[in-house]
Amino acid sequence: MILRVAIPSPLHKLFDYLCPVELEGLAKPGMRIKVPFGSREIIGIVIDTDVHSDYSSKQLKTALMLLDADPVLDATQFWLARWAAHYYFYPEGEALQQALPVLLRKGQEPTFAHATLWRATAHATLSSLATSAKRQRELLELLLRNPQGVSTEAIKIEGFSTPLLKALADKHLAESFASHPRPYQFATGSETILKEAPLTLNEEQASALYSLLNPSHFHTLLLEGITGSGKTEVYLQAIEAILKVGKQALILVPEIGLTPQTLSRFKARFQVPVMALHSGLTDRQRLDAWLMARDGSARILIGTRSAIFTPMKNPGIIIVDEEHDPSFKQQEGFRYHARDLAVLRAKKEDIPLLLTTATPSLESLHNALDGRYQHLHLRQRAGNASAPKFKFLDIRGEALQAGMAPELIHHIRQHLSAQTQVLIFLNRRGFSPSLICHDCGAVNECTRCDARMTLHRSPAHMHCHHCDRQTPIPKRCHQCHSEDLRPSGAGTERTEEQLKSLFPNIPVLRIDRDSTSRKHALENMMKQIHTGQPCIMIGTQMLAKGHHFPRVTLVAVLDADAGLFSADFRGMEKTAQLILQVAGRAGRAELSGEVLLQTHHPDHPMLAALVTQGYEAFAKSELVLRQGAGLPPFHHHALIRAEASRQGWAEAFLRSIREAIETHLSLPPGNHWSGPFPSPMEKRAGLFRSQMLIQGRERRHLHTLLRMIMQEVEHNPMKNKVRWSIDVDPIDSY
Ligand code: ADP
Ligand code: ZN
Ligand code: ZN
Repeated sequence: MILRVAIPSPLHKLFDYLCPVELEGLAKPGMRIKVPFGSREIIGIVIDTDVHSDYSSKQLKTALMLLDADPVLDATQFWLARWAAHYYFYPEGEALQQALPVLLRKGQEPTFAHATLWRATAHATLSSLATSAKRQRELLELLLRNPQGVSTEAIKIEGFSTPLLKALADKHLAESFASHPRPYQFATGSETILKEAPLTLNEEQASALYSLLNPSHFHTLLLEGITGSGKTEVYLQAIEAILKVGKQALILVPEIGLTPQTLSRFKARFQVPVMALHSGLTDRQRLDAWLMARDGSARILIGTRSAIFTPMKNPGIIIVDEEHDPSFKQQEGFRYHARDLAVLRAKKEDIPLLLTTATPSLESLHNALDGRYQHLHLRQRAGNASAPKFKFLDIRGEALQAGMAPELIHHIRQHLSAQTQVLIFLNRRGFSPSLICHDCGAVNECTRCDARMTLHRSPAHMHCHHCDRQTPIPKRCHQCHSEDLRPSGAGTERTEEQLKSLFPNIPVLRIDRDSTSRKHALENMMKQIHTGQPCIMIGTQMLAKGHHFPRVTLVAVLDADAGLFSADFRGMEKTAQLILQVAGRAGRAELSGEVLLQTHHPDHPMLAALVTQGYEAFAKSELVLRQGAGLPPFHHHALIRAEASRQGWAEAFLRSIREAIETHLSLPPGNHWSGPFPSPMEKRAGLFRSQMLIQGRERRHLHTLLRMIMQEVEHNPMKNKVRWSIDVDPIDSY
């Protein structure tokens, strides 16, 4: 018998092994198996068994041992990971590994942490011990009282020594056994689901909830509503209904969205076990959470994109919160999109899928307009909050102070004196995005990237945000040796400094990756904000998501133009989403809010549509443009990227692939190529990068072409000089 095994290796194929006689009939798809591979022994996943192989049995090695008695990957996970591997052109063995917690990849048992406990043996009674053996009798009593077992530590804490325990063991009165206790014990039963009462839904919320739960079979609901319109409340109540029928809920949130605030909302509402799957877990904790999801005891699972591979014993619903968020797409290696996989998984498990957002991705909107997704809106703000008012601040010709126009500063002062809070958004951390020589104009650039170094003041250094290179701040210009080097443009640090000098009596809180890297830093700032005292927050993306700031009445976007003229066709969509996301922080409670957008292009039709007619009008006109240009979501894209240590190699490699296919084969219908071109940032982290874009009307044909490319690469003599990858449905072109 032959075992077909997926092995974690960059090779895009499965490997055949001879099945040892003792494993015949035992090996099943989804089990881990140890096999010889080259000079090593590694763990692969059984994909299939077969009676014949393309190789003769002399060429085949024999598998070593099975690690599982039952498939460690359940049928859904096994299917989903394999499907994704094929769709995203990622080696199957690697994809399957990524669907497993690290400890299982390393071969550990799929059991909870192991503990050695002691108990009395079955025949042990106190009368087996002489009355003079006082301490032994006391220890035996302790063990008899605790038939579930007592740990060695507990025995010591009770004051008994190890020799005493050994004495009992030697008399066959005590024995040790291995236990795998569940790290959390939970109560069950429908009456204990809720900790606090749900809110009374308004009409739109109630109708969304109804549509989501009826039918209870697979369908996708896109729930669109501005921040604060009560989307989360809708899904909390949907989860409640799912829990009541004994099922589990999986919620995917953006990387930035898995905050203690988000979690505490779930924990405040539900009595049932809520498991957060985040990057801060140890490997052990991750495995425990995975096991509790798999055995059905963890009822609510919240995680970032990789949580889409979490097993569920009784799946009831999948929710993708902030479905437009780019962090759902993995940007290296296994380049899957968790939202898209969520659609597949919900369909496979025949359960409802909810996508929520204030600003739908054009992909989801397109699906909704075409009738594949149901589309519902929450147009009112829940409670009695009103939507914020937008206003452009034309900054053409204005003298900016650390990125702020005088009129903006005036507004900030007004809001602060009304005792409310102000939020300022600038998606650029550091002090200044460039350091320029005032005498010759030379800019301090990264030696490893086609990019400028960002000046940071606290601590003082130059930092490349693309490759992480860090250097001291230069004293002289590298070209003319002048000492007159000046920061140009503002990052969050500089704006913070300026605000502090303008408003010396008001706390200014900078919230970006640098200021929050220390433990509890963010928490402490949040505490300060939630006192409700007037303050100014200045921050990046981090401020835009997940947080509730009920006392904020003014939101200012310092650079609304960023992305308007981006080389990436998604630049406009991303800008619009970000602006609305930030705006959503204002006026969430009974205070109404004001949003100021600083721009050089107050007449830009897209910006104007966004501000005057709202996101949906903007998104629909953007869709019309995309359709006309044959761009996603109407046509499909795949990007072939390559990078090499010498300039020109990556491009030559891609060109040779293209030429080889064009001379020998006919392109599947409806496909177009462009490139290879140098990537928008050609040099990055010391490598020279190039890319080739493939567009196709139909995914099927696009995939046929990608398979041809894969085969072509196999024979390409340059393939070892470059690192290359396929990105199916890329979300940016860098
Ligand atoms: P979103 O997820 O759309 O941002 P939330 O569900 O977080 O909105 O709701 C915003 C605020 O309004 C929260 O403080 C929430 O408790 C409150 N809220 C939501 N729904 C209702 C409702 N039906 N009645 C009263 N308050 C509500
Ligand atoms: Zn100079
Ligand atoms: Zn760099």
